[in-house]
Amino acid sequence: MAVPEWLISDVRARAHLHRESRPGRVGAWPGWLPDEVAAAFAEVGVERPWLHQQQAAASLHGGHPTILTTPTASGKSLGYLAPVLAATWGGTECSPPEVDLGRARFRWAKRPHTALYLAPTKALAHDQWALCRRLTEAGLPTWRTIAVDGDSSTDDRMWARDHAAYVLTNPDWVHAALLPSHSRWSGFLSSLRYIVVDEAHHYRGGFGAHVAMVLRRLLRVARHHGADPVVAMASATIGDAAAHVAALTGLDPDAVTVVSESTAPAAALDTVLWQPRDHHDIETAVLCSQLIGRGRQTLAFTSSRNGAEKVASTTAEHTGERVESYRGGHLDLDRRAVEQGLRDGSVRGVAATSALELGVDITGLDAVVCSGHPGSLSSLWQRFGRAGRSGADALAVLVAADDPLDAWLLDHPEVLASRTFEPIPVGVGNRNIVAAHLAASAQELPLTEDALPLFGAKARELVDELVAGKVLRKRPTGWYWTRPDRAVDAISLRTIGPGGVEVTDIETGQILATVDAGSADRTVHPGAIHVVRGVPWQVVDHVADSPIAWVEPAQPGVRTAAQSVGGVEVIGTESTAEAGVGTSGLGEVRVTSQVNQCLVFDEYSGDVIDNFAVDRPMRTLDTEGLWWELPSATAAHMTPKGRFAAAMHALEHVVTALLPGFVACDRSEVVAVSDPGGARLVIHDLVPGGGGFIRMIAPRAVDLMQSARDLLEACPCTDGCPRCIVSVRCPDHNAALDKAGAAWLAGLLCPDG
Ligand SMILES: [Zn+2]
Ligand SMILES: [Zn+2]
Repeated sequence: MAVPEWLISDVRARAHLHRESRPGRVGAWPGWLPDEVAAAFAEVGVERPWLHQQQAAASLHGGHPTILTTPTASGKSLGYLAPVLAATWGGTECSPPEVDLGRARFRWAKRPHTALYLAPTKALAHDQWALCRRLTEAGLPTWRTIAVDGDSSTDDRMWARDHAAYVLTNPDWVHAALLPSHSRWSGFLSSLRYIVVDEAHHYRGGFGAHVAMVLRRLLRVARHHGADPVVAMASATIGDAAAHVAALTGLDPDAVTVVSESTAPAAALDTVLWQPRDHHDIETAVLCSQLIGRGRQTLAFTSSRNGAEKVASTTAEHTGERVESYRGGHLDLDRRAVEQGLRDGSVRGVAATSALELGVDITGLDAVVCSGHPGSLSSLWQRFGRAGRSGADALAVLVAADDPLDAWLLDHPEVLASRTFEPIPVGVGNRNIVAAHLAASAQELPLTEDALPLFGAKARELVDELVAGKVLRKRPTGWYWTRPDRAVDAISLRTIGPGGVEVTDIETGQILATVDAGSADRTVHPGAIHVVRGVPWQVVDHVADSPIAWVEPAQPGVRTAAQSVGGVEVIGTESTAEAGVGTSGLGEVRVTSQVNQCLVFDEYSGDVIDNFAVDRPMRTLDTEGLWWELPSATAAHMTPKGRFAAAMHALEHVVTALLPGFVACDRSEVVAVSDPGGARLVIHDLVPGGGGFIRMIAPRAVDLMQSARDLLEACPCTDGCPRCIVSVRCPDHNAALDKAGAAWLAGLLCPDG
C-alpha cells in the first residue's frame, strides 16, 4: 500500500516524505542475564532483544549512565529491565561466593540489589508495575516489586521499605517521603543498583529543575549509604539527550551512553503535510473518513476534547464504522475498551487528545492524522510513530492549523526530513530552586564542601546566603538544618510560589477546578468568566491572594479577557550581541504587571460588548530574559503615531508562536512583552529565577528573528491572520497589530537586513 494517489495528487498536500521500511536487527541476551529472566521475557512475547535493547542493557550493566531515546513502541522498557532484573531478581550478581558457606547462606537470605523506578505520574508508575507483575507471573515469582506513592497504605510502604527489590514511584514521593526518612530506608538504599527515570522528556523548566535537584539529593543519600547507583533514562526522541541526563543528574555528559537508533523493524512510512481550506478538525474528519472508508484503521489527534468528540462523531457518521474518541476525562474502563477494540479490529478509528501520548499501548495503525502541530517535533513524531506495523505501509498526515508554527513547518518541510529534535530546557541554574533543595539536602545529611559541586556552580554562594538567612548553620563538620520543621514541606515540585486557587461553586461548595497562583489575577478576579470543562462559571467573589474563588453558573455565550498594565526592565545584563542594526541581550529582567480591567466579549463573534474595572495588586517577576533592542530613532520612522507599538506587538506574537520550534516549550512557559516606552522586545521565562528556556533559546536568537521575518514576509494575507500575527492567546484581544511594520522591524534585527 503506497501513499494513495487521491491524497498525494490533491493540491492541499503541500509536502510528501517517504521512509523505506527497515528490517529489525536482532540481538542476543547477554551471558549475565539469568536463564529464568530470559525465559520470562520469552513468556511475555520477547524471544530475543533488538540490538538497541541489547546495547542499552550492556551499557547499564557495565555501570554507565544510559538514556534510551528511541521512538514509541521500540521497546525502551526492556533495555533497562534486563539489567534491573539481573540485579534485583537475584541473578548472577548476587550469587553467593563459593567459599564461606555460612556467609553465603546469609547473603541468599538477604535482599538482592534494589532499583528505583520514577515516572512523572502515579498512573504511569502503576502501568509500569503492571508490566512487572506480568513478568512475575511469567516465571519470576520471587521478584519483589511494588508501586508506592502518597496514596499507598502504611503496610505497602513498609513492605516496600523492608522487602521490595524494585520500587516504582514518582519524584514527588522520593522528595517528600523517601529522602526525609532515608535512614529508615538504609537497607533499600545501601543496595541501590539502578535509578530508572522514565519519560524523562517531561522533566523540563521549573518542574525539571526541581526533579534534577531531587535526583541529586537521592544520589547523595544513596552514596552515603554505600551504594553507587547507575542512572537509566528513557525518553521520547529529544535533541541533545546526553545533556539532558547531565542536567537532571549532575553527571558528566561525556560519560552518558545515548541509544537513539531503533533497531526494531519499521514499516515504510509516508508523511504528508496538508494545508486545509476548511477548519483543520473538519478536514481531519474528512481525511479520516476517506482512509477508514478504504479499509485503513486510522488514529486522529486533535488539540481539544471537543475536537476529538467532533472528529469521532463526524467520521462515524460518514463511514458507518465504529469510531471512538479517547481523551483525558474518560474512565479507565472506557479507555481499555477502546484499546481492545483497536486490537481486535472492531474499532476502525479513534480520535484522541494528547491524553494518548502518555504510556498508552496503541500502535500499529494504518494511518495517523494529526490535526494541528502538537507544538514540538518530538511529539509530532511520537504521534506519527503510532502508525505502521510490519508488512504494511503506513501513512501519517499533519493537517495544518491556522497557526504560525504550522505555517512555518509547511514552508520548511526539510526540518521534518532532517529529523532534528528540540532540546529540553531545565532550569538548573535557578537560584531559588537550588537553594531550597540545598536546605532539604542539608536536613537529610549535613552539607559538606565535597557535596556542593553536585548542586552547581552557585551552590557555595547560595549556602552562604542560607546561613545569612538563618536557614542553615555552619559548624566545623558542615552546614546543618537547625529548624524544627521539615525543609521539604516548603518545596512544591510542580508549582512555583504560593498555592493555587480553588474555583468553588458558591451554591454547593464543590471544588470545580484549581488555578495556579501565577494566573489567578487574570482568570478568577471578580466578574471573570471561568470555563471548566466547557461550562462557563462567573466569579462572584475572590480576594486577591486568597485560596478560594466563589463562582456561580454564568450567562452562556459570553466570555471575558483580563487586561493589564505593566512594563519590563533589564536589571542585569549577562551578554550582548549585534542584531542587525540593533542589539540583543541576555540577562535578568523585572516584569511588572497589574490586572486593572476586564473586557466582556461575545463568545461566537469575538466582539467586545462591555468592560469593567478590576482591582488586583501590582505583581513583580524577576526572571531570565532575552531581548532585542532597536535604535531609539526607529520609532520616529513609523507614522502615524502608535504604528510602532502595533508593529512591536505583532512581532511579540510571531516570536512567541515560533518558540516551540526552537526548544521544547509550550506557549504558556515563555512569553514576549514589548516595553511600551522604549524600543525593546523581551521574551522571558515565567518561572521566577528562570526555567532554563531563555538560556537555551539565547544561542539561537538570530535564527528565531530570521524565522519571524521569513514567516511575516511569506504569509499571503494582507493585514495579518492566525497563521502569522493574530493570536487566540492575546490578552489584548489582538487590538492594534501591524503586520507590515512587524516584518520591517524583524528585518532590521536580522544580520542580513
Ligand atoms: Zn497572515
Ligand atoms: Zn497580544
